[in-house]
Amino acid sequence: MTTTRITDAILLRSVPYKESDVILSFYTSQYGRVSAYARGARNSRRRFSGGLTLLTIGKAELHTSKPDSLWRLSDYDVNVDHTNIASNLDAMIHASYAIEIVRELTPLEHPDTLIFDLLVEFFESLSIHGAVFSVLRSFELRFLSYSGFAPTFDRCVQCDTLITTECDVLFDITAGGIVCCGDTQNGLLLSEVARQFLISVQQKRSFSEVNEIPMSHRSKEGSLCRQIMLSIIQQHIGKPLRSVEFIHKMTSKSEDSLHRSHG
Ligand SMILES: [Zn+2]
Repeated sequence: MTTTRITDAILLRSVPYKESDVILSFYTSQYGRVSAYARGARNSRRRFSGGLTLLTIGKAELHTSKPDSLWRLSDYDVNVDHTNIASNLDAMIHASYAIEIVRELTPLEHPDTLIFDLLVEFFESLSIHGAVFSVLRSFELRFLSYSGFAPTFDRCVQCDTLITTECDVLFDITAGGIVCCGDTQNGLLLSEVARQFLISVQQKRSFSEVNEIPMSHRSKEGSLCRQIMLSIIQQHIGKPLRSVEFIHKMTSKSEDSLHRSHG
């Protein structure tokens, strides 16, 4: 027996399949992350009148016949279209990174409205403000918190002492927090400026508030914050992120061409 489900959905990924189909990845408000195929989507534009464009938010009509099978998309009615993100390379890089985190760390068909609303708010922020360093850190921290992996920056995860020192402290990646005592095999040095930045970002509950917390992504402190957040996320995923490898390739390529043009 086939069950029909209609839900709000964000289109995260689209991969060609066979001659004319596509396999899609949605994050839906009612069923969490869902994989579905759209039959004939590549042959006929009329088949899905609003198109199947990444980062759109719409009403999806989905059908499933047995548990754990691929769902079938029969209709997708787009309400919000953030296609301007695709024309801004930095914003697109932030979007791809966020999508990869969600795809790697959320189970299939496990609804979580906090994650759904987080994605809606994040893509809206990218569409309006473009790529903002502190907003991406906030996305990481809120996602980790909603997933039950919130890192601890204000106290020691071993002895629970509130950290008040202005010296550098050790962040233990495996323990997910600051460690002021004992042995740490997997520690990264976190400066006081970077630690205070991460604490203030973590306290904010909306991206519009985070927008006003200044930090340059080119600064030493900024790159420290990025390195810590990336290490925490990779620790949970258990492998390198493809979107991050892509950024490294892009950056080294543009640096190469810069060196060449300077002789
Ligand atoms: Zn301690």
